[in-house]
Amino acid sequence: MPELVFFSGTMDCGKSTLALQIEHNRSARGLVGMIFTRNDRAGEGKLSSRLGLVTDAVEVAADQDLYASLVEHLSQGRRADYVIADEAQFLAPEQIDQLARVVDDLGLDVYAFGITTDFRSKLFPGSQRLVELADRIEVLQVEALCWCGARATHNARTIGGEMVVEGAQVVVGDVNQAADEVGYEVLCRRHHRRRMTAATARAAALSPDVLPVSSG
Ligand SMILES: [Zn+2]
Repeated sequence: MPELVFFSGTMDCGKSTLALQIEHNRSARGLVGMIFTRNDRAGEGKLSSRLGLVTDAVEVAADQDLYASLVEHLSQGRRADYVIADEAQFLAPEQIDQLARVVDDLGLDVYAFGITTDFRSKLFPGSQRLVELADRIEVLQVEALCWCGARATHNARTIGGEMVVEGAQVVVGDVNQAADEVGYEVLCRRHHRRRMTAATARAAALSPDVLPVSSG
């Protein structure tokens, strides 16, 4: 039975690497995939992983009907044996419905990869719709780690290393960003709640204010 599978996780948990691995394994068996992405770090029409692998993909437009795109592709006599949707958190809820229809009406497996929650720890609309519709949800457990060493479960947005909790839901940036730019950092829930990034933790450790007071 074809399935809609949602591979979810934090930033930096290896989602795109797994998407590329799935693509590689299937193309090695002679299967052809339709690969959708949106706002990939490598630029338009690319699916890239942090480990340096990259493949061409279809950049999804905000108003694109993904079901209609597949039907058109197939009706032109071109092949698609399965579908990969990377950065699926950036898709509109209706586009997730269209992917479910690709599974049900076209009989194709759809593998969607996305970040579950945004920098305020709220569900992205696309991810919410995937949680509602997916046949199966796989939570990726590649050990993305908080600076404290705990498993990172939350995405923080940073400006100059300081965590921010207001702003537009989608601002494209990346981990390891230059100091004053919008960046992202994965944190454990404790440090996400305390808004303590690696940079602010380092600053706090150097500050005399927080040295333990001797009771003498
Ligand atoms: Zn932590």
